[in-house]
Amino acid sequence: MQTPRLEIDLRSIAHNARFLSEFYARKGIQVTGVTKGVCGDPTVARTFLANGIRSLADARLENLRRLREAGIRAPFMLLRIPALSQADEVVRLADCSLNTEVKVLRALSDAARRIGRRHAVILMVELGDLREGIMPQDLPAVARSVLAMDGLRLSGIGANLFCFGGVQPGESNMGVLSRTAERVEREFGVKLEIVSGGATSNYRWASTAADLGRINHLRCGEALLVGGITLPMGGIPGMKHDAFKLVAEVVEAKQKPSRPWGDSVGADAFGTKRSFVDRGERRRLIANVGRQDIYAPEDLRPLQDVQVQGASSDHLVLDAGGDDMQVGDEIGFHLGYNSTLMAMASRYVPKIYLHEGETSGGTDTER
Ligand SMILES: *Cc1c(COP(=O)(O)O)cnc(C)c1O
Repeated sequence: MQTPRLEIDLRSIAHNARFLSEFYARKGIQVTGVTKGVCGDPTVARTFLANGIRSLADARLENLRRLREAGIRAPFMLLRIPALSQADEVVRLADCSLNTEVKVLRALSDAARRIGRRHAVILMVELGDLREGIMPQDLPAVARSVLAMDGLRLSGIGANLFCFGGVQPGESNMGVLSRTAERVEREFGVKLEIVSGGATSNYRWASTAADLGRINHLRCGEALLVGGITLPMGGIPGMKHDAFKLVAEVVEAKQKPSRPWGDSVGADAFGTKRSFVDRGERRRLIANVGRQDIYAPEDLRPLQDVQVQGASSDHLVLDAGGDDMQVGDEIGFHLGYNSTLMAMASRYVPKIYLHEGETSGGTDTER
């Protein structure tokens, strides 16, 4: 079989979708399945939908278009706050979008009216992570504007944490979100259908907080795909972390010194100056995959007893450890979330689906 290739275990993804949707259903929280980590892959999206997930979200319009063109029918949410120049496409491709700017909201309203629709919007509240969000005290004014726009429906409010500033979701910031929802409802006499507390990183808060307040919705990608392995807790217990396996091939296997040598040893081709421990001569391997296909060497978990030393664009350098691997042997790695995204997006890596059909994620005509 071709190398490198990405093997996608749909049984693990189906397990994660059932596990997470049931876990959160018990807490009164609905989960939207985020497909940006798999570039809007329709087979993965179908697996979500066949296993308890009822709506889909992606950061990119291209991915939403891919899902629609594959014939997938579910409510679609756009995660990345829309660009003004894309208003027409947003209302055509997404049923709902996350927003922070009145100027954009007005354009979305006009675009929706032109095609005779009402576009649902969730207003994002800034809770300290400093990515997208309206400052809480400014939210009522924006809500007032939205309520006056004919092409829009104020579906709810939401927040995003642990992305830019590293701020974890917890009882205090989730409390602010709940109180902001109540304030909007009181002030305008409306009922907010969705209070979207965040993403995969809300897991610890959700599993430990005594009171989840008004939060009734989360947008989860990483948990569904790789079981939340990048959480500080290192993976959600009971979830599968092995859905994505990158298979590469050994293209060089040689005994070599473990430290670079030469007249002048400086930074590598990526501008990073590294230090190397001299471990004497070691058996070293090169595999045929690199930074064009993965995010970072640290994001790979080898399935053999080898250690990843680093990567350049097209070469992965390994210490052969206790394994007697030879040129031509295949070498497998489970991937973290970032490398999953890179491998999915790499046109050099074919995607192979395992257990398709067993996960009732088959074609739409079967359902
Ligand atoms: C990516 C993203 C998510 C999903 O995050 P995960 O960590 O994959 O669960 C949710 N909301 C927004 C706004 C995002 O950009």
